[in-house]
Amino acid sequence: MSLSQGRNLFVTPGPSVIPDRVLNAMHRAAPNIYEGDLVDMTDRILDNLRKVARTSGDPTIYISNGHGVWEAALHNVLQAGDKVLCLSTGTFGSGWADVATAMGIEVELLDFGSSKSFNADRVADALRADQGKFKAILATHTDTSTSITNDIAALRKAIDDTGHHALLMVDCIASLGCEQFEMDAWGVDVMVAACQKGLMVPPGIAFTFHNTKAAQVSENTIRTSPYWNWTLRTNPDVFYMRFNGTPPTHHIFGLDEALKMLVDEEGLDNVWARHTKQAQAIWAAIDIWAEAGAIRCNIQNIADRSSAVTTVVSDTIDLSPLHEWCKDTAGLTLGVGIGFGEYEPNQIFRIGHMGHMNPVMLLGALSTIEAGLNALQIPHGRGAIEAAGRVLAS
Ligand SMILES: *Cc1c(COP(=O)(O)O)cnc(C)c1O
Repeated sequence: MSLSQGRNLFVTPGPSVIPDRVLNAMHRAAPNIYEGDLVDMTDRILDNLRKVARTSGDPTIYISNGHGVWEAALHNVLQAGDKVLCLSTGTFGSGWADVATAMGIEVELLDFGSSKSFNADRVADALRADQGKFKAILATHTDTSTSITNDIAALRKAIDDTGHHALLMVDCIASLGCEQFEMDAWGVDVMVAACQKGLMVPPGIAFTFHNTKAAQVSENTIRTSPYWNWTLRTNPDVFYMRFNGTPPTHHIFGLDEALKMLVDEEGLDNVWARHTKQAQAIWAAIDIWAEAGAIRCNIQNIADRSSAVTTVVSDTIDLSPLHEWCKDTAGLTLGVGIGFGEYEPNQIFRIGHMGHMNPVMLLGALSTIEAGLNALQIPHGRGAIEAAGRVLAS
């Protein structure tokens, strides 16, 4: 028997839960795309995007998903035959490297495995050995497959220590609007993000951000795609050029509302603190379940754990029945496993705790998972939910 009437909860790490306010903002008739609300709103959105990314650089909005802006960012500053260093801590890190390779860019991949963040010494060694050929360094802030978060400020320092002049390009698709990120203070030249994770908007628009150093590089780059070219989009003569065609009207209304919630109302520091606290509650529960040896957090070191998504692995158990029990009996959809290292997808589940979440949803998800562990007789330590509650109350 399924008990699952009422509103289901999806804790997939993107698309994340969409606030009713965002949905309601999108629920309206087609607007004028030449003047009025939409045009004014877009300027406000660009300002708020700068605030979320902590940059005075230029945001560009594409009708695209994350894969699209991976390509857009590369296309603007690199050409076939150029060489880049790509740092990988999971499937998304190597995914961006694959896109670069497919575009004819020569990629040197530094793979840090799937359980620890970047090692800055290894990056520095690779840069010293390179003799200035790398034009860019591609890094992932939070890799959503493994739930590893990388220290981008430490990476910048390692780059500066070697005196290397490569552009630093960072994928913040999972982390923007969830985890602290300081584009300017951390010396990031290009950043990519999408709307459907921390920014709480249905998938469909994605972003690049670039500073003046990246803008200079792009001026000297032969760009063959008019669609990905960010120059006209950042300095449009007429509004439609910002989107190289019809704007994504309803996504703009939704994004404006979401950014108001994050920037104007809650405040970015509070948004980050909320994610940290909620993540700590989730880890407290999982670390107790882990005492029985069947499941555990993929990342041992707390500093390497993302506060937007948590990957849980099992060395011994097929977790597909747990996915099914949670979904079919209880109405909770867990994030699917993306295989890495020695783990097959059915040895993994992920909890997305990004965006529009509160303790009701988090404790509901954790209690439901625990009920599933009980139903399926998967060994787990006792007192996990209480521990999560204690963290939230502290
Ligand atoms: C989700 C995600 C992507 C891919 O985004 P899509 O919108 O699915 O194309 C890339 N990188 C990271 C870190 C992600 O979390």
